[in-house]
Amino acid sequence: MAKKAGKKRQARRTVRMVVIPEPAPNTRSVIVYMGPGTVAMRSQGNVTMTCGNCGSPILESVKVGQFRSLVFRCNKCGVFNETPI
Ligand SMILES: [Zn+2]
Repeated sequence: MAKKAGKKRQARRTVRMVVIPEPAPNTRSVIVYMGPGTVAMRSQGNVTMTCGNCGSPILESVKVGQFRSLVFRCNKCGVFNETPI
């Protein structure tokens, strides 16, 4: 039985981000969030992305591929992460 694909209600997923070395200056767009908590960005998607080192949520309710080109510095442990999907 095939599921009806009309109304997409995607299951929520949690994806661990990939820890990378600090990018050389002006090679990547690095988002450094310094506010309260650890979530740097929220959107309308179904994926939560967590720090590859400490597991803190960095991107909440985002879409796959939405932040593919960006690097996020974890506000908790300070490592640099990129999104694997
Ligand atoms: Zn972290």
